[in-house]
Amino acid sequence: MNLLSLLRGEAFKRGIHPPQNKLTAERSIRRLPFASRLVVPLSQHIGKPARAVVRVGQEVVRGELIAEADGWLSVPHHAPATGFVEAIELRPSAKGPWEQSIVIKVQPGSTQEVQVAHPRDMGVLNPQEIIAAVQQTGMVGLGGAAFPSHAKMSVPKDAKVHTLVVNGCECEPYLTCDHRVMVEHADDLIEGIRHAMRATGAVRTVIGIEDNKMSAVEAIQAALMARHIPADQIAVQAVPTKYPQGAEKMLIMALFGVEVPSGGLPLAYGMVVLNVGTLAALGCLLPRGEGLVERVVTVTGPAVQRPGDYRVPIGTPMKFLLDYAGAPAESYQVILGGPMMGQAAASLDVPVTKGMSGLLVMRGADFCDRDDQKIYPCIKCGECVAACPMGLNPSLLGMLAAMRDYEPMGSQYHLGDCFECGSCSFVCPSSIPLVQQFRVAKQVLRERAVA
Ligand code: SF4
Ligand code: SF4
Repeated sequence: MNLLSLLRGEAFKRGIHPPQNKLTAERSIRRLPFASRLVVPLSQHIGKPARAVVRVGQEVVRGELIAEADGWLSVPHHAPATGFVEAIELRPSAKGPWEQSIVIKVQPGSTQEVQVAHPRDMGVLNPQEIIAAVQQTGMVGLGGAAFPSHAKMSVPKDAKVHTLVVNGCECEPYLTCDHRVMVEHADDLIEGIRHAMRATGAVRTVIGIEDNKMSAVEAIQAALMARHIPADQIAVQAVPTKYPQGAEKMLIMALFGVEVPSGGLPLAYGMVVLNVGTLAALGCLLPRGEGLVERVVTVTGPAVQRPGDYRVPIGTPMKFLLDYAGAPAESYQVILGGPMMGQAAASLDVPVTKGMSGLLVMRGADFCDRDDQKIYPCIKCGECVAACPMGLNPSLLGMLAAMRDYEPMGSQYHLGDCFECGSCSFVCPSSIPLVQQFRVAKQVLRERAVA
């Protein structure tokens, strides 16, 4: 099927329009200096943790392999700085649990140049070799999912991919790291797209970008024109700004009018969806034969003095980054990611990891424009039903959750389709913490299934 004949730029059904607050959209990416110590968790991704291949006391140089992938659904990690391994031990992670981590004491004055690289001619690699090369970079979904990219690009033998969908929506308010990467690294993005097309077998690519980022649309179009790449090979399509446009199924609906049903995957429709930041990083790393040692992180929020998009070495302590950006984080709430889907940081004594797209520093008053934060009973206004992009009934699910009647939430009312976008909580006039209730319900159901 040629999806280009269906290409459109219409909004998906339902969804919401939260204030965008993209404070950093016009600021260039800045490089962060090294902290004195970097902490590289072995598990920064979905799947099995990597296995350390260095020992305490060993010297390492920036870009050197320090942990190897442990199986197919795992990725390696590389030294983000030159220094020596000070410890391999349990350290707190951003979301709470302690993780086995490699602590690197950074050599003062060490260079930000990557010193270990194995340049390769990408043109001679077959799809399997490209996928193996992607795994060697240690790449995971930089949009926040942290799913190993090589696994996402691997197409099962019984499936066929014709279209690569590139997600440049960045629909979360405040976040701008993808926007800046598209504007400043359009050539790397196109390079990454070409490798991903060969790896997946896709014959065309559509890059979906929300229409509040027209500078990104223009930058990519200019780069495509400069390379004489026709639109039937790689096309850029603006889509209406609407939350959660960046969800895979919403983007596919907006671009092609194709509805991927409950439980279905884009792969069943011949599509693979990848994030712009991931592809731009691959476009840079794959030909050079380097590992992922840094990422772009948006540091923003009303309490940040120097908000911006920073190129941050993996493993940098979050506190160091916040201090550099002028965020008096001790007295405020730090959210990992955007305000809609992000989660409160359990501690600031944790490192920046591969899946961390943003740090949002908020004061109490920024969370809620109501005078109180009291939770009121459901008034059955239906606002949450009208907002839910998956067509669920959050009001009903919320009532079941409040009664701790979790079983029917999963078996009858499709809780599994909820991807925790937070739209229902956002619109609820009674301030019912619906998405938080759904997270708890899912956790309980998971534990019961295991038991
Ligand atoms: S959090 Fe879940 S139930 Fe609420 S709007 Fe999003 S998908 Fe629907
Ligand atoms: S938006 Fe809130 S008050 Fe309205 S129906 Fe949904 S849960 Fe009830």
